[in-house]
Parts: sequence; C-alpha cells; structure tokens
Amino acid sequence: MYGSQIFRDRKVLDESYIPDHLRVRASEAELLVGRYLNRFREGLGSTDISLIYGSLGKVGIGKTTLAKYVGLSLERETRRYGINFKHVYINTYSAPSMHQILTLIASQLELNISVRGSAVIEVLKAITDYLYRRDLYILVILDEFQSLLLSPRVDDDHLYLLLRIYEEIPAKDGINRINFLLVGQDFRIVSHMKERIPQVESQIGFRLYLKPYSKKELYDILEQRAEMALEPHAWNEYLLEMIADYYGYDEVKGGEGSARKAILTLRMAAELAEVKGASSIQEEHVRLALSENAVASIPLDDLRGLNTHELLILLSIASSTLEGKSLITTGELRDKYNEVAEFYGESPRGHTQFHVYLRNLGALGLIDLKPSGKGIKGRTTLIRLSPEIPADRLREAVESIILDRATPGRGRGSWM
Ligand code: ADP
Repeated sequence: MYGSQIFRDRKVLDESYIPDHLRVRASEAELLVGRYLNRFREGLGSTDISLIYGSLGKVGIGKTTLAKYVGLSLERETRRYGINFKHVYINTYSAPSMHQILTLIASQLELNISVRGSAVIEVLKAITDYLYRRDLYILVILDEFQSLLLSPRVDDDHLYLLLRIYEEIPAKDGINRINFLLVGQDFRIVSHMKERIPQVESQIGFRLYLKPYSKKELYDILEQRAEMALEPHAWNEYLLEMIADYYGYDEVKGGEGSARKAILTLRMAAELAEVKGASSIQEEHVRLALSENAVASIPLDDLRGLNTHELLILLSIASSTLEGKSLITTGELRDKYNEVAEFYGESPRGHTQFHVYLRNLGALGLIDLKPSGKGIKGRTTLIRLSPEIPADRLREAVESIILDRATPGRGRGSWM
C-alpha cells in the first residue's frame, strides 16, 4: 500500500503528544523531579505544593507540558527505586467543583468510592487511607488552577482541606504521601491565592515562572518533533528556522513564543506538502501554513476594544462551543450569559442591550448569526463562533482581558 513520503509518525505532531525527553525546559523538569524523588527515597514522606505559572497573556509556552512531564518522569524514576508512585492530572477548568475533583482523583487512583453524597472530609480520609495501605505516593496536578480560585462553587475551607490535607487528617504512620503541583496562567494566580487561601500560598515550596519561548528554544522543540515525525528527506533546518523566527519571542520585538503554534504550523506545512503530492516540504508550504495560522489566530485588538458585557457574551459562546454545542439559540445564549455574568460578579444586561451587543459581535466577524430554519419553534437566531476562531484560545484570551480589567479590592468573585 501507499505510505506517506512526508510522515513517519504523524501522532508526534499531535497537541497531546509529550516527548519522552524534553530538550527545552529540561533543567526545570529535573529540578522538580529531583525535589520529589529525594523525599520519596528518604521514606520520610512529602507533602509539597509547587506552582508553575506563565508569562501574562501567553499560551502554548509549556506549562501543562512541563507539569505532565514531571508526573510521567517521576513515574519512571520511582519505578527504578521500587517506590510506588502515581500522578493524577486534573484540568480544573473542566472540573470546577470539589466533588468533581475528588471524583477524578479517586477514579485515576482506581479507588472505588462513592464521592457523590459523601462529605469532602470523608472522601479525603478514604484517599489517605488508601495511600497508606498501598504505601503509594501521589502528585496531584491541578491545571488551570486560577479557574478554581475564581469559582464561587468551591469554598475556601474545602480548598484548605484538600491542599493541607494532613493537618486535618494525620497519616496513620506519620508519612505524608500527597503532593500538589499547581499550574496557573500567570502571576495573578499568586494574588488570587493570597486573597482566598493565604496559608496555602505561604507554603508554596517552589515557584516556577515560564517565559515565552525564544527562537532558539522553538527551533530545538521543532527539530525534535521533525526528527521523530517526518521522513529525513522531507524537511530541512531552514524550514524549521522560518517557523521559529516567526513565533520566537524576544524582549525587543516581542513575539508569541508559542510552541503550540510552532508545532501546529510544522504539521500544517507537512500536510500541505503531502496533499500536493510533493516529496518534501517546501518553503511555500511553510509560508502558507504560517498565513493560515495567522488567520486562525485570535483578533486581540478587536477583543480589547469590546466592553465587558460583549466579552462575557463571547465567553459564553466560546464555552458552549467547548462543551460541544457549537450552534446555539439566542435563548440558550442568554441563559449561559446570565450564568457567566454572575460568575464574574456582573449584573446581566437587559434584552435590548444584549441584542445590540450580539449584532456588534456579528459585525466584527467574531460570531455568525443566522435565522433558524424549520424545526425550531418560533423565530429565533442561531449563533456560532466564526469558524476560523479556535474556541479554546478565544476563551483564554477573553478571560485574560477580563482579568486585566480587574480592580482588586472589590472582593472575591468580582474582578471587573
Ligand atoms: P501551555 O500549557 O503553556 O498553554 P502547553 O504545555 O500546552 O502550553 O504546550 C503547547 C504545545 O507545545 C504542546 O503540544 C506541547 O507538547 C508543546 N510543547 C510545549 N513545551 C514543549 C517543550 N519544552 N518541549 C516539547 N514540546 C513542547
């Protein structure tokens, strides 16, 4: 059968792929891994809380990758020393309540308990007991931790209980086995923690700030992927340099510094070469991929020009898309918007204003509005995010702008 002339292992260019070894951020990873490993090896137990956060407004800079890599590396390393260890990864944006978090911890540990209807402390007791019985150490990674801190559905006492578990529930043999690695968007995570859970904030053992990637770093990341994903004759250094130059960050010229975009561009260029039947990736494929990615990127200037309620409406639409509902009615959108506005401590605007904002978002090309066809009762408008805008990036950008406008001191849950 026909084999690809371009790809040798496509999945290496997938978003979720994590290389066995990081060529960039290796020293940061080593530091974190070493920290935990030493304590586990001493057998004295460990209950560390560390924090990774990134440069303001930057995504794709390796926060999640680093955290997961630390978890995976620890699993590899501990095996060599005969230590039982497991990492648990939770994206708290998709699990914004304590019960959801506990359910995910239990299921990833393959601990069969019913979390629903049990008190948080009972579930935590069951978890610590399970770890004691199995002599199992764990690292719980809580990604997008800022969304937990901003959530009114999670109360501070429960956050304390979870993060300082052994103060409330001492280990039977005095050996603490639960560690946390928190991942936040940017430095504001620290002030949010100071506000909501100051005693946890003061206990953070290790803080790691990640800058956007430089040209050189992106080049190294791309080269590793190209070596694994592509046939040797299908790529050359110059092509990778083009991509690294385009996205690389430096203090003077700025730049996105995003490994996500750089890798996506390489994948798109490779796919273009393949579709066109070329035997290798050409410069024109990279140029085309770069311009396509530019189109698919977020219109930040437009977003910054929106008022808070337009942003909240946009955020509601992006959230629906992320929840798998890409086409929604105005009624559904209004419900969602009311919820989101309340979340951010804003009172929702009335019907007329809401429709003015919707039309404005449509005029800017951020959303598509179309009249519903048959099958839906009465006349309504169906709304969706413009197809070239990636919902997850949009959500991050909008949230970040909303938080930028925050006036601290107006109390928790009210950031604008
Ligand atoms: P963030 O969490 O900062 O938004 P991610 O960790 O999700 O960024 O990284 C985005 C993409 O870039 C992922 O596909 C990831 O595999 C890749 N990536 C990021 N940093 C590295 C790195 N140091 N080495 C290899 N790949 C990386």
